[in-house]
Amino acid sequence: MLSLRKLSYLILSGTIFIFFVSFYFFFNKQLHTTADVIVHDVKKDTASLVYSISKNLQQADDLYHFISEIKRLPASNPFVSAVQVFKDNKLMLTTDQRLRTQPDSRQTYIPEKMDSYDLLTQNKVLTNHLYYFSGLNKSFLTLYIYLDREAVSVSIDKLFFQMIFWMLLLTIIYFILIFLIVKKVIINPAEILRQYAYYQSEIPKKMLLTDYEYIRSSMVHTFERLEKEKKALYRIARTDKLSGLPNREALHEKLDWLISVSERTNSEFALLFLDLDDFKTINDSLGHSIGDAYLKQVALVIKNIVRNNDIVARIGGDEFIIILNTYKNLLDLTQIIERIQSELKKPQIVDSHPIESSCSIGVAFYPKDGKDENTLMKQADIAMYQAKKNGKNQYHFFTSALYEAVQKEIKQAREIKSGIKNQEFELYYQPKVDLESEKIIACEALIRWNHPQDGLVAPNDFIPLAEKEGLIIELGNWIIEEAIRQQMVWKEQGICDIPIAVNISARQLFYEGFTQNIKQLIEQNNFEPQNLDIEITETLFIEDTSKSLNILTELCNQGLSISLDDFGTGYSSLSYLKRFPIHTLKIDKVFIDDFQTHTDSVFLETIVTMGKNLGITVLCEGVEEREQLKFLQKIGCDQYQGYYCSKPLSAKNFAGFISEYNTAN
Ligand code: C2E
Ligand code: MG
Ligand code: MG
Repeated sequence: MLSLRKLSYLILSGTIFIFFVSFYFFFNKQLHTTADVIVHDVKKDTASLVYSISKNLQQADDLYHFISEIKRLPASNPFVSAVQVFKDNKLMLTTDQRLRTQPDSRQTYIPEKMDSYDLLTQNKVLTNHLYYFSGLNKSFLTLYIYLDREAVSVSIDKLFFQMIFWMLLLTIIYFILIFLIVKKVIINPAEILRQYAYYQSEIPKKMLLTDYEYIRSSMVHTFERLEKEKKALYRIARTDKLSGLPNREALHEKLDWLISVSERTNSEFALLFLDLDDFKTINDSLGHSIGDAYLKQVALVIKNIVRNNDIVARIGGDEFIIILNTYKNLLDLTQIIERIQSELKKPQIVDSHPIESSCSIGVAFYPKDGKDENTLMKQADIAMYQAKKNGKNQYHFFTSALYEAVQKEIKQAREIKSGIKNQEFELYYQPKVDLESEKIIACEALIRWNHPQDGLVAPNDFIPLAEKEGLIIELGNWIIEEAIRQQMVWKEQGICDIPIAVNISARQLFYEGFTQNIKQLIEQNNFEPQNLDIEITETLFIEDTSKSLNILTELCNQGLSISLDDFGTGYSSLSYLKRFPIHTLKIDKVFIDDFQTHTDSVFLETIVTMGKNLGITVLCEGVEEREQLKFLQKIGCDQYQGYYCSKPLSAKNFAGFISEYNTAN
């Protein structure tokens, strides 16, 4: 590609070439003019000599009278070296004794064929005729005028050197001048524009050339616009659209900066992880737009409480990060936190809806709890979860004990995962006994973990974590499959053909495709759906009632039965029993434990009566003694489950136990 610099040099060389050529022609003309002048001068002197001689000359031999006049010509004219006079071929006179022969026609100058320059440079001899009259006869003598070679060449050379000198001088001046102009007007501005386009550093000054000036000003405008857009984009990319607070990206930059400053100044700061309590309920009950408006208000409340130097960012749904670095002491810090919590606890009017909520806050300190962003956020998050666990609307400082508990959970979650892969889980079965016939009429599958190091682990020690980490989906699928398989094996082997109950956690039930999955399993195995009972707990009703209702109805439609486990311990209202398709109520063990107390016996009796009225089977869990059984029979309870009959047994032991038990009773 041709650069502007190269192009300029090319044009410059071209113009210098043209310059040289025109200069050459000009000087050539000068040379010819000079030659003309010299020749003219010689001719004029010769003519006046010829005139003065011919005027007085009578005969050729009288020529010697004019010898001094003839000699004056080479003496007075510097370009004439000698003069010869011939009468026909006879030399009459010569001013230079070395020249005695007559020049031939090749030596003489012929005006028609040559110009003055040729005459001078080719060293020709000028001829002239000297006419005179002897009587009436007109005769003539021929004059040969020899030019002074040296004088001519000195004068021509002088002119030539002058030409070279001027040509070089003017060329150099021209070159320098044009170079400076081109550099100043074309090359330098182009380079400045190029640099500006590349680095966008300093705004270039106004340009001389209008074309450059147009480019410069449009570049300045474009860059200014781009800079504005860049800044706006930068702001947008770092701002949470909803709340207007810095987002995760901006927080990352601010924290990075704060950590480096704190490291240098040896100072600490507190990172608060704030999560709204039950925000999901606001969203679900009032809709997402109200939820969003509420979040905006929350952002405003927090911003108004913290100081200008503090950082507030929204990093997710209802999660905010607050970085406080200007508190005086711990008391000051806790006062700020408490103010945030008390302000957020106050009902906020959003779109004419009074919303009451609260928040849980976890606190981690730099550098005590973490020296980098990730650790600090993680520790504050752990502390926030602890605050939630402690009953919400609280704050909690991060401690190393908390960290260890989380690490333990992470380790256990990994072990559960590998346990599923390594088939370390096993189902145990506990009989459900009919209180009238005292026969085993069903059973409940309860999971056990044959841990390679810890031995047999009870479900309460790993189910909550499996639920939290989402592992319950995979594990739960295996439980259902295994229970169905076991029921069919017992049936095939003629051991028993009784319904089997599986415990299903809320997260598993709400998982997409749950009902479809069960349907598929039943169809694939040709399993009788009435032999599968789903045990759920009351917590399910708190989570999402309409969704729960749909799922349970679908399961019922598939032919499965539903049991409400641990009944009496939850917070749900009895109205659910009417609305939801529940077949069995499983009264929690705590009530039969204290059946001798008035309140518990009344509770048991009431539930049994209500069950009868609603057509729901009532089962009592945790029966350990004969008296308890007798009491349940007396109040008309339908079934029981408990150690009195049997603890949960492995599949093999259960098979032996049921045959023996049912024949004995
Ligand atoms: P649950 O469904 O209410 O199960 C009854 C629990 O009470 C069982 O404990 C059982 O061994 C125990 N139990 C039964 N009769 C008596 C008795 O007479 N005295 C005493 N002291 N305890 C009795 P387990 O097997 O430790 O299960 C505890 C809980 O773990 C279960 O309560 C259930 O909520 C959960 N769980 C067990 N297996 C599974 C499962 O496969 N999936 C899910 N999601 N949860 C399960
Ligand atoms: Mg159960
Ligand atoms: Mg229970």
